[in-house]
Amino acid sequence: MRKLILGNWKMHGSLQHLETFQKTLIHLQTTGPVPYAQLGLAVPAPYLLAASALLRPLDIWIGGQTCDHEAEGARTGNVSAAMLADVGASFVIVGHSERRSQHHEDNQDIAAQVQQAQAAGLLAVVCVGEGLNQAAEAFVAAQLQASLPQKFDANRLVIAYEPVWAIGTGQQATLGHVEMVCGALRQVLQSRLLSVDASELVPILYGGSVTSATANLFLASPHVGGVLVGKASFNPGGFWHISQSVPAGPI
Ligand code: PEP
Repeated sequence: MRKLILGNWKMHGSLQHLETFQKTLIHLQTTGPVPYAQLGLAVPAPYLLAASALLRPLDIWIGGQTCDHEAEGARTGNVSAAMLADVGASFVIVGHSERRSQHHEDNQDIAAQVQQAQAAGLLAVVCVGEGLNQAAEAFVAAQLQASLPQKFDANRLVIAYEPVWAIGTGQQATLGHVEMVCGALRQVLQSRLLSVDASELVPILYGGSVTSATANLFLASPHVGGVLVGKASFNPGGFWHISQSVPAGPI
C-alpha cells in the first residue's frame, strides 16, 4: 500500500490560499517526479467543496477534520459524515487531540464517529496519543480499544499516532519510540480483527511536528504507514517535499 501523507490545515486558510496551493502543486507535479505516496488534505469545512474541485483532479484526497457522531438531526453547527462524502471528501480525521481537549470529545464519541464515517463510505483516521508523563504504549493501546466501535471495517480505517506533547510544539518523537508504539497499536488491531492479515490493512501514521526536513525518517520505516502533518502541510512546497521523501516502491 502507498504511504499516506495527510495534511491538516486546522482553522487556517482561505480560498485565495487554496488557489495558490493548487497552482503551486500543479507546477510541482508537472516538473517533478510522481511521489510514491497518496496525498490528502483535511481543510476547514467551508473550503471542502472548493478543495474538492481544485485538488481532487491532482489526485489529492480531501478530508474533513471531524464529523458528528449522529447521522443527522438538530445539531446546530455540526457536520455529518454523509455531508463530507457528499462534497467529495474521502476521509475524515476523528479524535484529534484538539477535538478531545477543546470540544471534550471522548472515546465513546470517537467510536460513534468512526461508525458514521465508515457508513458514509469515508476512511476514518482515528487519532490517539499520550500526554506528557503518560506511559505511551499502555495509554494509546487503551485509547484505541475504546475509540473503535464494536464492529468496524479494516479497509476504511487509518490510525494516526500523535503524542499530544509533539503536536505543534516542534518536539518530535524518536523513530524508536514511534515504532514501539506502532507495535502496541498493531497488537490491539490484531486482537480486534482476529487476524494478522486484516490488521495489516490498517496503516498507522505518525504525527507531531513533522516537517519536510524530518518526514523521511518516519517514512523510511516499514512500521510507519505515513504521516499526519499539521503546520508543515500549509505550505504547498513543503507538503510536496514531504511526499518526495517516500522511498521508491510500487505505486
Ligand atoms: C496535527 O495537528 O495533527 C499535527 C501533527 O500538527 P503539527 O504537525 O503542526 O504538529
